[in-house]
Amino acid sequence: MTATEALQAFLPDEQTAALVTSGVNRRYLSGFESSAGAVLVTKKRSILLLDFRYYEAASKRVQPPMEVVRFTRLIDDLNSIFLKENIKSVYIEDESVSVAKLHEFETAMIPQLLTDGLSQKLSEIRLIKTPDEVEKIITAQRITERAYNEVLNFLKPGVTERKIAVELEHLIKLYGGERIAFDLICITGANTSLPHGVPGERVVREGDFFTFDIGSVYEGYHSDMTRTVAVGSATDEMRMIYETVLEAHQKAQRAIIAGNTAADVDIAARDHIESCGYGEYFGHSTGHGVGLEIHEAPAVYKTCHTVLQDNMVITDEPGIYLPDKFGVRIEDMFLVRGDQPLDLAEIEKELVII
Ligand code: ZN
Ligand code: ZN
Repeated sequence: MTATEALQAFLPDEQTAALVTSGVNRRYLSGFESSAGAVLVTKKRSILLLDFRYYEAASKRVQPPMEVVRFTRLIDDLNSIFLKENIKSVYIEDESVSVAKLHEFETAMIPQLLTDGLSQKLSEIRLIKTPDEVEKIITAQRITERAYNEVLNFLKPGVTERKIAVELEHLIKLYGGERIAFDLICITGANTSLPHGVPGERVVREGDFFTFDIGSVYEGYHSDMTRTVAVGSATDEMRMIYETVLEAHQKAQRAIIAGNTAADVDIAARDHIESCGYGEYFGHSTGHGVGLEIHEAPAVYKTCHTVLQDNMVITDEPGIYLPDKFGVRIEDMFLVRGDQPLDLAEIEKELVII
């Protein structure tokens, strides 16, 4: 079943439509990226509405049965379709329509607005990746890996976090990434105890950890990986914390089984870190879904009871952060595949001393 068919199955009857206006979900349903427009889905039709800037390119690229229609004023053109198709109510994306847009829709749109359920449904449909989506995520990951392997040559005492971050971004773009997947986290020394530290002027020193949380985007799809490496040497405490995080990562990995919940994966990592006495130093969730957005459903956290199914892509990224000392995080994306998840990264996870 295609994503559009799944959305059509969600519609209760022929007089109800779904109006998708967020950029990410328009792209998801149509395969076409644009800065404005809408996708309207009824029981029988799916229509991509675009303005003159995009119409021609989309007419050539968008695959039937999706129709491409050029609009002049979106709401007026939508209203014509609503009248023609006898649409009485329309779902809108409750999680992305602004209050201003909602007022505009309420005032000008003919059908009754349904503001509950469409965002959730699209997020659910996006949980399961097609082979083509998985391929794009893997390509994004390979681009990151190539850049990462090369940037390790720059990682020496005296170099700044900023230099490493800038080099990585440059290499990611050079090797085919359309952009970086998020502000790259390239941090060292005591900064590594900040899970979302920002690269700055801090200089790499012998005996410090360096944390890379990095990713790229390929044809709209994101990748996400974290490695923590030691520069020159590592103390026993650094090695011990590293091993604890790696074991937590591996325990979570073994829980990535179709039929388990996302919570099972989080609990596997969290229990291990807690049993080693570091529970209070692991303050974030174990992971998240990845796809057209860097963070998407499911949340890999103890309160998320989404059942894992084949072809979901989630991260496994436990960490331990000792304030003012150092932190360790290890992250890979996994494709759910029965009871043998596929690790989408090809970079070793044992402690590397550069
Ligand atoms: Zn990450
Ligand atoms: Zn992540």
